[in-house]
Amino acid sequence: MVESVESGAVEVFDPIAVVAEPLPANGEMGRAKEKANVREIVLGRNVHTMCLPITEPDANDECTGDKEAYMASVLARYRKTLIERTKHHLGYPYNLDFDYGDLAQLQHFSINNLGDPFIESNYGVHSRPFEVGVLDWFARLWEIEKNEYWGYITNCGTEGNLHGVLVGREVFPDGILYASRDSHYSIFKAARMYRMECVKVGTLVSGEIDCADFKVKLLANKDKPAIINVNIGTTVKGAVDDLDLVIQTLEECGFTHDRFYIHCDGALFGLMMPFVKRAPKVTFKKPIGSVSVSGHKLVGCPMPCGVQITRLEHINALSRNVEYIASRDATIMGSRNGHAPIFLWYTLNRKGYKGFQKEVQKCLRNAHYLKACLFAAGISAMLNELSSTVVFERPLDEEFIRRWQLACQGNIAHVVVMPNVTIEKLDDFLKELVEKRSTWYPGGKVQPPCIATEIGSENCLCTLHKSVSRE
Ligand SMILES: *Cc1c(COP(=O)(O)O)cnc(C)c1O
Repeated sequence: MVESVESGAVEVFDPIAVVAEPLPANGEMGRAKEKANVREIVLGRNVHTMCLPITEPDANDECTGDKEAYMASVLARYRKTLIERTKHHLGYPYNLDFDYGDLAQLQHFSINNLGDPFIESNYGVHSRPFEVGVLDWFARLWEIEKNEYWGYITNCGTEGNLHGVLVGREVFPDGILYASRDSHYSIFKAARMYRMECVKVGTLVSGEIDCADFKVKLLANKDKPAIINVNIGTTVKGAVDDLDLVIQTLEECGFTHDRFYIHCDGALFGLMMPFVKRAPKVTFKKPIGSVSVSGHKLVGCPMPCGVQITRLEHINALSRNVEYIASRDATIMGSRNGHAPIFLWYTLNRKGYKGFQKEVQKCLRNAHYLKACLFAAGISAMLNELSSTVVFERPLDEEFIRRWQLACQGNIAHVVVMPNVTIEKLDDFLKELVEKRSTWYPGGKVQPPCIATEIGSENCLCTLHKSVSRE
């Protein structure tokens, strides 16, 4: 019998004993409720921080169903909000147009692909066959043989970046990370997490990496290998870095292929660029080390996820030192969402390469429409050639920004035209924007800001540049 000594007395250990009073003091709860009530009065503001408290079931109240009714009503209201918020969404690059009804039958299972996609664990409730099918599809897209790649389905684009930079670091432990200033913050987070030396490279007005600046910085650090993040679509301006020019710059600076590692952050447009004419092709036939993409953006998966593909040779290098765990430990996470691969498998099967091509075409067409309409209404706007991200003057009204869920940075805002963004939706948005804007800048007394530094003078329609761009 096990005995434990507590404050001098000897107690018999009871293996099924639980804490008698598990409920912490009550004070916080009342306050949380109060706060929620106060916040409700401030319309529109801080709605996202409102709390739906978890309340203890009343003792002996199990059969009255009050609690069930309460929860059902909360969920029903939440569903309504989701429908409304989905309708007015333009700022984030999420494709909200999908129907996964057939997969509802799977929500009763705890599907977990823990560990490596290619090595089964002892946990049998997994979806590895779907995962590998999806990975093969992307490997084909990025032109790498099945026996030469390794990859996995991640939790999001960020995890792909964390992995890509890590593989680069493992290949070149003393390498310097180069990333343009417009790179996603997850790249700089990776640099901090891995304590890597990180050099920020300047960008052109379009948001593309400035290879002249890249060259200067490479030459200043010629003694160390280079790990480069190349953006296949930057977050804010949707700019696509010129992969070919990046490789050429490396070669011109004397970096041979065994002295650099390129990770392509295709979170945003990784699945769009293959279908855009004139876009620099992302392919493993070029000297790149890894590519990642988000699954909940253009692909339209209802839960965050992503795909990361790298060369098998790199993974062998990465995981050689952890062979003692009798499996390959090459993923960032341990347990991994096993539902996501099924959603991806389902939608890739339905759409295929052809389906994505059509959707991409629609996005580009609608993005051009939006840009033209903004310009016609006298609103400064920019659309990069290889992009469906329309950058424009930041609306003055925060309420309007929240209503349309626009992403903003400084003086600019953007709309990312995804497959679910129809002409009708854009027309609704434009109509409302033009109406509201006339109240923000009434009678020419207050002028809209100049955003030439952000989007280029040819795209700026402020009082100064309007006349210049017409000359
Ligand atoms: C969205 C995005 C990411 C991060 O992806 P998450 O899925 O949100 O983690 C990384 N890079 C770029 C360029 C992105 O647009």
